[in-house]
Amino acid sequence: MLCEGLWVTNRFFWKTFAKKALFIKNPSFVIRILVAGTLVEFAGYWMSYHYKKLYNEIQQGRVAVLDSGVSTELERQGAPMQDSQWSGRVSIDAFDILVNTHKAYIDAGADIITVNSYASSRLVLGDSLNESLIEKINKRNIDAALEARSKTGANEVLIAGSISHQVAWQHLDGQVKQQIDIPISKDELEFAFTEMRELFEAGGVDLLLLEMMSIPARTVPLYECVSNSTLPVWCGLSAKRQNHKSEITSFHDERVLFEDNVKTAALYNFDVMGVMHTAVDLISGCNSIIKNYHNGPLMAYPDSGYFQAPNWQFVDIITPQNLLSFAEIWQIEGVKIFGGCCGLGPEHTGFLSRLK
Ligand SMILES: [Zn+2]
Repeated sequence: MLCEGLWVTNRFFWKTFAKKALFIKNPSFVIRILVAGTLVEFAGYWMSYHYKKLYNEIQQGRVAVLDSGVSTELERQGAPMQDSQWSGRVSIDAFDILVNTHKAYIDAGADIITVNSYASSRLVLGDSLNESLIEKINKRNIDAALEARSKTGANEVLIAGSISHQVAWQHLDGQVKQQIDIPISKDELEFAFTEMRELFEAGGVDLLLLEMMSIPARTVPLYECVSNSTLPVWCGLSAKRQNHKSEITSFHDERVLFEDNVKTAALYNFDVMGVMHTAVDLISGCNSIIKNYHNGPLMAYPDSGYFQAPNWQFVDIITPQNLLSFAEIWQIEGVKIFGGCCGLGPEHTGFLSRLK
């Protein structure tokens, strides 16, 4: 018990002194001590037994496999994609396909499956039609993952609640508007992120997975929001490069260096950091940058193909064998958690499982 307490507290000890403040909503425990006449308060959370077990094993060198793209696999399996909301409503439009998609990833060897919530926050679904459905859609999202886990009997599989800073796709002159060109206020971001965080905390997932972190004006409010969570947090950043001589930049904003996004995220001391939804040939460069700022486990899950709203274009998708060959190099570089993002499916997960 003491070890568990210290282990959890340690994470927040850093925060207390680095940020001069500590705000944990709904902490699992609070420890108060008097230091030189000042009351110092430590708060933390109890992680799920299966989370703690897997995380400890990863720290001791075990390889873990994250699923591959959920939305793109849903699309491949015939689930309806909405024009500006992509896969955001699948949990109420095609629940069985969603459960079967999660099951396929568990059967392929995934240790962690991802809730289909990348495009289900209020930022994407918050139009008049979906506003009242947001809670229902996200509860069904979580239910689908829980149901897949119980149907396969794989109780040790972790469920990751995905949170992104994606805003509903918009079109301009027939083109999809750049995310950075869609204005969104800090208040709207904070409200939407808090809503997602609280739904996941109440819903019984094992961790929060921040996906496609890329736009600093949106990532910082999200990092602040999840820092208050009772759940552990894994942070996935996305990158791009204009050509092989250019520096690696943020996926959504080529004026922002990837390294600067990594530096900002590293301030929050997340359990796991890594690169995702990024081309395979950039992953090694990103790994070496992240390693400079993050001492914990690294994850990597690339994409393949490209998006043309409302559908992913399955063009020149990397073969599972080729992905495995890349992953073997990332493993040497220190990556412990491997998966796939958009365009990659259960067959890719199956090949990555050979690393275990
Ligand atoms: Zn992706």
